[in-house]
Amino acid sequence: MHSTITKIDAEQADFTDPLRSYRDRFDLPDGVLYLDGNSLGALPKTVRQRVAKTISEEWGEQLIRSWNTADWVHLPQRVGRKIANLIGAGDGSVVTADSTSINLFKVLSAALDLNPGRSKIISERDNFPTDLYIAQGVAKQIGKGHRLVLSDAPSDIPDMLDEDAAVLMLTHVNYRNGYRHDMAALTKMAHDKGILVIWDLCHTAGAMPVDLTGAGADFAIGCGYKYLNGGPGAPAFLYVNPRHMGGFRQPLSGWFGHRAPFDFDPSYAPSSNIEQYLCGTPPVLAMVAMDEAMSLWDDVDMTAVRAKSVTLCDLFIQEVDSFADEFGLKLVTPRDADRRGSQVSYSCDNGYAIMQALIARGVVGDFRAPDIIRFGMTPLYLKFAEVKQAAAILRDILETRAWDAPEFQVRGAVT
Ligand SMILES: *Cc1c(COP(=O)(O)O)cnc(C)c1O
Repeated sequence: MHSTITKIDAEQADFTDPLRSYRDRFDLPDGVLYLDGNSLGALPKTVRQRVAKTISEEWGEQLIRSWNTADWVHLPQRVGRKIANLIGAGDGSVVTADSTSINLFKVLSAALDLNPGRSKIISERDNFPTDLYIAQGVAKQIGKGHRLVLSDAPSDIPDMLDEDAAVLMLTHVNYRNGYRHDMAALTKMAHDKGILVIWDLCHTAGAMPVDLTGAGADFAIGCGYKYLNGGPGAPAFLYVNPRHMGGFRQPLSGWFGHRAPFDFDPSYAPSSNIEQYLCGTPPVLAMVAMDEAMSLWDDVDMTAVRAKSVTLCDLFIQEVDSFADEFGLKLVTPRDADRRGSQVSYSCDNGYAIMQALIARGVVGDFRAPDIIRFGMTPLYLKFAEVKQAAAILRDILETRAWDAPEFQVRGAVT
């Protein structure tokens, strides 16, 4: 067959897994093989108590005093510091705030302001749509004729980097096919042409080590609710290279970005550091959940996370290879681990129904229109045996055509 992977023994791999103790730190329902932690991470057990305590003691009893006594006010910086450790960012260069979409609005606006006289924002047609939508909105808002230019394949990008490009805005790992860009190489190529670079780390942070400082990235953004397990709609993060910290660049000039919010000065005077990328009051309950989820990462070896992620993906590909052709599943994720993130995706007919049938059997992945079934691999809480079992259930569903039932054809609002 076309596999280049050396045969993986799932039971043996679980036995020798250096990360296996982390599984017990998550709540996972019985009977579920959870291959969707790239979309909504599982619940770390201690988040429950921590949020309950925040509600009953900090909010319920201490009330407004908790902004100081529980240091609610610095949650964006505190959680930012924990995330910084995972993405190769220095102290004071990351905050947790708002959503990925909103953070992209801030950093893209800042990047365009820093690189005047150029009109193009370069990205990929296959980027996550909100990133493209935000870029379209920012261009319109600025009103200086910026335009979004989109590549159709990663290999086209180097030739698109010209003297009229202001910003290269890429998602490190593609949400649909799992393709992973070479962050350091592309950042360097762009810088050589005077282009600033924004990396979206939604499918990177918590899935693999990444070195923003080493790559020289200008800005980065990313999600709290995927591999970082911060909970549904968790606050997102934002990184600014310290060389861009001077001056004020982002347009959401809310009071939390002010130099002295509690002076209540009628004129805006921006903070000179990362706080200028904050806007308004942090959502404390969500921030506390995120903070607690991040404490789980204190002693995690990211090299081990990446090694396990690669083997989990290899194992799934190996298992599905034995029946993929027969049922028309086409692997769209690169076989080369160096070119992929922590997910495995296939294009196929009836993908939506197949995924619904999988979910009904306890294998939770997701479907991305028009024809992708997607399986996320989260090294902290997935077992190799589960990945193997998920592939066996997929095979069974295809062989029995279990997906071809009316209840699996109805689409929910979220796929
Ligand atoms: C998940 C994801 C988002 C989500 O943005 P929200 O503002 O949280 O809705 C944005 N971009 C990429 C690349 C994503 O994968």
